[in-house]
Amino acid sequence: MRCIHGHGFVGVPHSGAEEFRRTARENMLQGADLLKTFATPGMPPINGSFIPHFLTREEIRTVVEEAAGKNLPVVSHCIGGQGLVDCVEEGVDVIEHAYCIDDAGLELVTKYGCRLDLTSGILLDPSGEEFLSPASVDCCRRMRDAAFSCMEKVMKSGVKFALGTDAYHGLLYREVKYAVQCGASSLNTMKDVTVNAAKNASCRRIKATIGGLLYANKKGAAGMFPAAPNCVIKNSVFICFTQKSISMKRLIRSCKHGQLPFR
Ligand SMILES: [Zn+2]
Repeated sequence: MRCIHGHGFVGVPHSGAEEFRRTARENMLQGADLLKTFATPGMPPINGSFIPHFLTREEIRTVVEEAAGKNLPVVSHCIGGQGLVDCVEEGVDVIEHAYCIDDAGLELVTKYGCRLDLTSGILLDPSGEEFLSPASVDCCRRMRDAAFSCMEKVMKSGVKFALGTDAYHGLLYREVKYAVQCGASSLNTMKDVTVNAAKNASCRRIKATIGGLLYANKKGAAGMFPAAPNCVIKNSVFICFTQKSISMKRLIRSCKHGQLPFR
């Protein structure tokens, strides 16, 4: 759900609380696991620091109230600024992207027990530019350093987050690399791309379905080795990806003991 004047062409346009309420109910009627709104643009501002925000507090609150009736979470596409303040204070559960979250925003997220869904790879990785418009490429280049330091602050803050993407397809493992480079622990990043992401999306029975070998070591390197199921690299957390599904609990326990869950 977005407002008629933003963000872009993603989502369905709405104006006024009653339109949001109707779509929220229609989504729940169709069995939605969560409700999502678009609060801000997708890219940080090129000039100045003002971040536009499109939803009124009443519109946000209406979606949150409707979701509460079915005990569903509300997530919001929101990079920062006043839109983030409004979403968090009105009860949104997950802030997606948060590229521009500042110290006050982090404090607020902590205070309200909100979670983040970080998707910073699209800004941090120059190879992601091939998926973007020329204007967005320009914006990414200007924002790269700021996005790195913002992510470092998030890692230090202790705020709960997941790692994901909506525009960096096939390259999610690099989000792991960036999170580790910015100060997250290897083991936690494994949770962030699996179990924590599932929690954000309200999945109750969490399984890791895997195919390949993913590693993130203490130096921040990360990569995929689909054809190297038995290799061992010192100081690394390993998850051996197979065609089987295993419980996250077993996966984490195996990693802690330095074993591969499957060979
Ligand atoms: Zn988004």
